[in-house]
This record gives sequence, structure tokens and C-alpha cells, in this order.
Amino acid sequence: MTNQLVSFIKDLYQTNEFIPLHAPCFEGNEQSYVLQTIQSTFVSSVGKFVEDFERRVETYTNSARAVATVNGTAALHTALYMAGVRPNDIVITQALTFVATCNALYHMGAEPAFVDVSPVSLGLCPKALRRFLEQHAELTKHGAVLKSTKQRIKAVVPMHTFGHPVELDELIIVCNDWQISLVEDAAESLGSFYKGQHTGTFGEYGAISFNGNKVITTGGGGIVLCKSLGSGARTKHVTTTAKVQHPYEFYHDEAGFNYRMPNLNAALGCAQIEALPKFIKNKRYLAQLYRDFFSDSEFTFVTEPKYAQSNYWLNAIICPSPQVREKLLKDTNENGVMTRPTWQLMHRLPMYKDCLKGSLVYSEFIESHLINIPSSPVKNLTGA
Ligand SMILES: *Cc1c(COP(=O)(O)O)cnc(C)c1O
Repeated sequence: MTNQLVSFIKDLYQTNEFIPLHAPCFEGNEQSYVLQTIQSTFVSSVGKFVEDFERRVETYTNSARAVATVNGTAALHTALYMAGVRPNDIVITQALTFVATCNALYHMGAEPAFVDVSPVSLGLCPKALRRFLEQHAELTKHGAVLKSTKQRIKAVVPMHTFGHPVELDELIIVCNDWQISLVEDAAESLGSFYKGQHTGTFGEYGAISFNGNKVITTGGGGIVLCKSLGSGARTKHVTTTAKVQHPYEFYHDEAGFNYRMPNLNAALGCAQIEALPKFIKNKRYLAQLYRDFFSDSEFTFVTEPKYAQSNYWLNAIICPSPQVREKLLKDTNENGVMTRPTWQLMHRLPMYKDCLKGSLVYSEFIESHLINIPSSPVKNLTGA
């Protein structure tokens, strides 16, 4: 299998050089826009590309307001802050995620609690969430609290794993029943839609990342999607040191963040988002080729849930056993094709090992059986 897979991937990417998991692609207006910022000297926190980029993301995702930030972690931090998460609160998320999801809430003084992911989406499982709440929480007149410590359960943060949208309708019902805010970690899911609506626009706030390995990149960057113009204006205020507009006075009305995306990065983003539809089409076609390749094998190719249109940010396969997986990881990487196990579960990391958690049976299965395979857009891929 390894040899077939390695040659299949090398043929696709038409190269004998090392094939990374996800590389950025700059074939449009990137150079021209970035150069404009240098020539104008507006490379920093002021400039027309930031607003331009925010408007383009609003249009693409159909959200009321988008506020650009320095990175995806900062976007998530802001989203949680805006949703009202405060020190000592509990925030429920999935154990299978990138560490930034937890770090963002941890650095606000909140504590994560972990629930399992669903076989349908590989993201936060609505049934596991309800079971966790029934076992550990009670609903008071101040909202949901942990039975044991009376800590407030302020938010649920599902993450759209590898770009595949979680079961949002079911999650929203559980969140409403328990009066808990929904904040989406949509870092990986720009270009992914749940029943036709863009991910990150269902909760009160959503956060997207434009890191170098994501679907499109601004070098480093992120954006907060906001449900209303009012919450958007407040989000912009908080990410820009909460400075009250004045021609020369410095006055700040709350402890804000300096999370602005520089104009230099936004320029790259404007060029990248122009190419986004092309990238998504290309990546979805690549996923189809992988699915056909693995169709009669002992490996299960991870496909989008029925209700969703996924960006297929990172393609993934589930191996028949951990032993088969270890061998495939070793053989592919030694032969110039990058593959990677998924993240170690959050409760295994030293800073999160004592956090409250539900059953994590499916997360553990995925942790020991899944690998990600090369997923960059493929040059000259026809038939898409
Ligand atoms: C990439 C990513 C982030 C963080 O984004 P940065 O831009 O790297 O800070 C957060 N959560 C998830 C799930 C991610 O994949």
C-alpha cells in the first residue's frame, strides 16, 4: 500500500521533492497588493487593505461583521471574551483539537472541560455534550453551573475538524436547553458550509485562522465573525486597544487588546481570498481522487458529513490498526511524502491533564488510528 500511495501522491503533485501536508499558493495579486502597502508606507495597523479584507470575508461568509486579528488564537480569545467568558468559568470543548482552542480560554482564566467527538463529523458530539451536562451540570437562575464547584459553564466551543462542519442543529438545541453560548472555532473551516450557511456564523461569535498552513493565508492572521453590527463594532473596539475615537486625545474605556491585523498581512489576504473559490474547487476534487484511491482498501477515507459542503482542508484516513498506521507514517515520511498523526488529545497535555472530561472513547480511537495526508491544492488538476 505504501508504495502505491507514495507514487499516487507524487504523480498528483508531479514532483520528486518532499511533499508537505499543506503549502500556500501565491499565483494571483499577492505581489502587487503587498508591494502597494510598502510603496504607500502603510504597512502597519492603518491602511485600506484591512477594511477591504474584512468586507471581502463578510461577503464570502455572509456574516454581519468580520474583525481581522493578528492570528487565529487572538481571534478565538476575542470571540470568547466578547461572548462573556470570564475568569473561573468552565468552557466545554472537544478533546480532539489543536491546542490553541484550549490556550485561548485558559489565558482568560477560564477552564476547559472535554467531551468526545462524533463519528459523523470528527467534531464535538451533541450527544456526548448532553450526556456530560446531564451528569455534571445543573441549571440555575444564573444559567448552567457545575454541580461540584458551582463554576459557571459559559460557553461551548466546537471545532470543525479538518474543515468538516459539526452537527450544528443538534448542538444549538443542547446549548439553548442549557443556556450556554456557542462560540465556533472555525479556524480550519473557511469555505465550509453547514446546510448552505458558512461555518463560524452559527454561534454568537466564530474565529477563523489565516496561518500559513490554512486554506488561505495572510502570513499570520485571523478574523472574528460577528452576528450583528453592534457586536461587530464592540469587537473592533476591543481588538484595537479600546481607544475612543478622537483626533489627538488618548482615552481608552476598557482593558482592550492590541490584536489588529497589519495592513501588510491584509494585502496578502485580499489576494488570497480572490483565489479561494479556485482553491476549494481544487481541494474538493483532490479529496474525490483520494476517496477513489482508498475505496477498495482497508483504509477509510474521511468524507464530509451528508449535511455539509466541506473545504477538505486536511485530508485524512483512518487506518485498520495503530500498527498499520505507525508503519504507514514511517514509510511515507521516509519516502518524501509528509503524513502526520492527528493531535494528541488535550487531556494528555500537562497543563490540561486534570481538567474535567466525559467519555472520550471515539477521540481515543481517532487519536490512535488517523493520519493526515498531503492536501495542498494541486497544480494543473483538471476535471474539477
Ligand atoms: C490553526 C488553528 C488555530 C489557531 O490559529 P493561529 O492562526 O495559528 O493562531 C486554532 N484552532 C484550530 C483548531 C486551528 O487549527
